[in-house]
Amino acid sequence: MQCHYCQNTCIKKGWSKNTQKHQCKTCFKYQREQWVYQSYRVTDRQIIQLTKEGCGIRSTARILEFSSTTIIRRILRIASNLKRKTPISFGQTYQVDELFTYIGNKTTAFVLLTP
Ligand SMILES: [Zn+2]
Repeated sequence: MQCHYCQNTCIKKGWSKNTQKHQCKTCFKYQREQWVYQSYRVTDRQIIQLTKEGCGIRSTARILEFSSTTIIRRILRIASNLKRKTPISFGQTYQVDELFTYIGNKTTAFVLLTP
């Protein structure tokens, strides 16, 4: 087997979850020929679609049969790649329908509604 990182030869070095592990002779990294955890099969589109339907993180994780940590990590990655469509510029007047804020602690939340 060739190393995925440096393309040198690897030797067999132990077992994990009924799959053979290999270790590179030069960079000493452990790797397998096939991935065991199949989270890469979930596409971003599936996660976006389930989020749009109103599924929470835990229900998305149940439907896709992955851990909620994986779903949270993927949602954060998707969100970090989003770009704002129209930039908010300074010195302009904007109408705000709802504004949530809190003073002191979070149990005393104030809701300011503007008509
Ligand atoms: Zn290597």
